[in-house]
Parts: sequence; structure tokens; C-alpha cells
Amino acid sequence: MHDFVLPLFVSEKLDERRPIASMPGVFQLPAEQIADEARSAQDLGLQAILLFGIPESKDEQASGAYAENGVIQRALRDIKSTCPGLVTVTDVCLCEYMSHGHCGVTRIDGDDFHVLNDETVELLVKTALSHAAAGADMVAPSDMMDGRIGAIREALDSAGFDQTGIISYAAKFASTFYGPFREAAESPPQFGDRRSYQMDIANANEALREVSLDIDEGADIVMVKPALPYLDILWRVRERFGKPTAVYHVSGEYAMVKGAAEKGILDERAAVLEIMTALKRAGADIIVTYWARELAKWLRE
Ligand SMILES: [Zn+2]
Repeated sequence: MHDFVLPLFVSEKLDERRPIASMPGVFQLPAEQIADEARSAQDLGLQAILLFGIPESKDEQASGAYAENGVIQRALRDIKSTCPGLVTVTDVCLCEYMSHGHCGVTRIDGDDFHVLNDETVELLVKTALSHAAAGADMVAPSDMMDGRIGAIREALDSAGFDQTGIISYAAKFASTFYGPFREAAESPPQFGDRRSYQMDIANANEALREVSLDIDEGADIVMVKPALPYLDILWRVRERFGKPTAVYHVSGEYAMVKGAAEKGILDERAAVLEIMTALKRAGADIIVTYWARELAKWLRE
């Protein structure tokens, strides 16, 4: 159970927890509850959480992402004072904070839009620094912009955060299985899609190239996302680079099994254990999963 990381969604807009319809058993949490939720995860035996923030308001500079009192920054301080031993990983991306829902600074030319890489990386660096300052043990840039791992590593080191690790979403495919997450993180793009910066699902070589670049730039852990449809990638990344490798079992993969289990088609526990075993078998050192709590219980029984 030390391999599991539990994603948690913390929202500035809520007074009480809100269920996410497409992901039964997953909630958005109000800021006041995040520390208790983190503590209960730790009590179950989990060692790490991955935090996503939903800000009160969004703008075109994603300023909530790097605000001193932003939703993640406050959550980190609360969690660190309640359960200092829990490893906190933060999602570093701009889409939840951008009014248009893209992962970067965009420019619109007529019917076209462009995500501006360098401008985006600058804001990602600011975000990562502010998370580190608020107590993040690891930052996890999930945007797939070029050069962001190196830029974040350099900025963290020169600000004295050389102990803060980086989990890179190195091989993130433009997958249809992310659908339910966008409800959870309230981050669907308002126009266009993310194919210009996420990877073509058919392209394994590009994935390996991206992973190698991120390792060269200083990623401590590399992540493959989604999980089950990309076992081949996971295996190749783990074999080729020998780096600690994480895999994100994503919202659509979760919803699929939940839906089948609710209809009595699948035995949820058996299915989940089989999936997790497959991910381990394919080389996953770390598994990000919405079932982390249940897995901690099941594996103890
Ligand atoms: Zn994003």
C-alpha cells in the first residue's frame, strides 16, 4: 500500500463536500476539510496524496495557481500542520485556474489558438515555487509543455528547495479516459482541445523521447498516463530508463469499473486488485488511484 497515491480535490467554492457524479465515491472537498481527509488517508496507511485545487475565480493569467493564499497553498499549510509525515504531491498545471481551461497561456488567431510555451513555463515555475514554499514535498507538472522540468528544477534549487522532488507527467496521452476528471477539477477547455500538447495515443516512440527529455531535465519520477491502455508504454519506460516510474489510473478507467460493478457485472474488489497487479507487473513503482483508500483496507485484510 506504500505504492498508492490518493488524488484529492480541494475547492475554494464549497462549504460541504460535493460528490462527483461521474466518479462514484470521489468528492470535491471544501478547504476546511482537506486536512482531516489527509489525516484519515494517513491513518489508513497511505503515505502520499496528490492535490488538485479548484479556485474561487479564474483568469487569463491563472493567478490563483501561484497566489500566496491560493487554494493549494492554504491546503498544504493545513495538511502539513495536521499530518507532517504525509508526503504531499501537488498538481502543477494552469488549466484549473485559467478562464479558458487550457493548460497554458493562449493566444487566439481567428479560429485558431496557440498555447505559448515559454510564457506558460514561466507561470508553471512560479506555481511550483509557491507550492514548495507552502510545504509540498513533490511537485507534479502535468501540462506537457517543453522545457518545464528543467526550468522548475533550476528555480527550486536556486530558491533553496533542492529537497523538493519532481514527478513529471512525462508520457501523457491525449486520452478519452480523462473525461470524468474534467468534471472533478472543473477544467474542461472552453475552446479547442489539448491535442496540441498532449501525445498522440498511437505514438510510442514520442512517449519514450519525452520521458528521456524529462529525465535529462531532472525529473525524479516519471509518470505514464492513463494506465491500463498504456501498459506497453509503462513497461518500456521502466525497462529502458530504470527510473522510479509512476502510473496514473485515470478517472475514466475508474468510472468504467465502478459503472460495471454498480450494475453487478463485475466484482469491484477483484477487478481492482487484478488491475493493480497488472500495473505492478508492467513496472509501476507508484500508482495514483482513486481506489487508494480501499486498497489500503483490502491489502490489510
Ligand atoms: Zn492542465
